[in-house]
Amino acid sequence: MKVFLISILITLSISCSKKESEVVYDIEIGQINIIKNDGTILEEQTIYINADTIAAILPPRNIFYLKSKRYINGENNYLLPGFWDNHVHFRGGEQLITQNEKFLEQYINYGITTVRDAGGDLTPQVQQWNKQIQNGTRVGPTIYTSGPKLDGPNARWEGSLPVDSQESINDALDSLQSLHTDYVKIYDSTLSRKQYLDIIKTAETRAMITSGHMPFTVELQEAIDAGLDNIEHLYYVLKGCSSQEKEITQQIIEGTLGFWGSMEQLIATYDETTAQQTFARLKASNTFVTPTLHIGDVLSYLDEVDHSQDTYLSHLEDAFIKTYEGRNKRAINASAKAKKDRKELQTFFIKLTKSLHDAGVQLLAGSDCGAYNSYTYPGPSLHKELEQLVKAGLTPLQALRTSGYNGSQFLQKEGYGIAIGNKADLVILEKNPLENIRNTQSIRHTIKNGVVYTISRD
Ligand SMILES: [Zn+2]
Repeated sequence: MKVFLISILITLSISCSKKESEVVYDIEIGQINIIKNDGTILEEQTIYINADTIAAILPPRNIFYLKSKRYINGENNYLLPGFWDNHVHFRGGEQLITQNEKFLEQYINYGITTVRDAGGDLTPQVQQWNKQIQNGTRVGPTIYTSGPKLDGPNARWEGSLPVDSQESINDALDSLQSLHTDYVKIYDSTLSRKQYLDIIKTAETRAMITSGHMPFTVELQEAIDAGLDNIEHLYYVLKGCSSQEKEITQQIIEGTLGFWGSMEQLIATYDETTAQQTFARLKASNTFVTPTLHIGDVLSYLDEVDHSQDTYLSHLEDAFIKTYEGRNKRAINASAKAKKDRKELQTFFIKLTKSLHDAGVQLLAGSDCGAYNSYTYPGPSLHKELEQLVKAGLTPLQALRTSGYNGSQFLQKEGYGIAIGNKADLVILEKNPLENIRNTQSIRHTIKNGVVYTISRD
């Protein structure tokens, strides 16, 4: 609190020394309730913003009368840092560039001021959009991107960098570094066990942040030891909680067991002692986990839920909706057992998320939205992910922290959160999200790059 007051006074004294009458802030939000990162609510505060920076925060009934160009009455509203979606994809090739471009505004529309792009085939466009967003010529969230994914030869996803030797690992990482991407995303469609671990180790020596899937030929502990910084999805964590991980891994290496085929065995051999050891290791090594529960829920119930009337579909081009077909068909044509197993796995993942959280593992809220990922819509899907985290047993505050706070920690980006001198990436909500996580959708304004967006949705 002292530091807080001192910083206010410093800010004010700097301002006042220029003669008070000269200082006119760009935006003033009056009498708003600020939700702090620890869950305390500072009531009826007044916030001043200059350009894209928080310039001052004043308590109720303050004696200072500062000027501003624009006043927003924040009475009975709640101020939060803008949301982060920590797993999105911009992809789908040339023909889907305009559709991907349209999602940028959608993110702002849903209060999302930062996204972590987890790889695709549109890296030049993504980097150009982000530049334009930063210099204020385009509406959209800050995009932190992995650039192209690293995978083996003839990888599943377009645009991936193929890796099959130490030399190609060096080349791939050189190319990411020359593109100034924010982290390394590793996929597992054709990547060998050795190369997977070598990518992580090599990235580590270059101080690059790594995130990825994990080939099932690798044991989780090996990935943690190599230095993996974030695990996308829960399959890999589940594997590390099995008392039979070594045996199952050996069967995968020998080719007698496949990825999906191993799930039932992994659940059956889930062992509480092994799990707690694994969680403790994840925590000790500061490895993040991105559960992606919402997409898991959508994909697990594709055979039962009719999405044809989803209102968001009106924002999507036909060519984009067409990318959903593969997953839809696979879900519908799956055997009765496979359908049942998928739902059981989802239920298991919800419990696993709570266990991870209780053990102190840092989670990231990420939706995995983008082309090919059926009915997981850019914008709303992050809010659905937050709902799922609460359904798993996190409090609304704990769920909120997995968005912007943990997102910036993972990518080691500073200057986020509501404090003087930080970026004014903000959302104004009509209802308190700590009371009900669905209130994250009661967005009145999103503030990004010094612009106030008024949100209205049907
Ligand atoms: Zn993804």
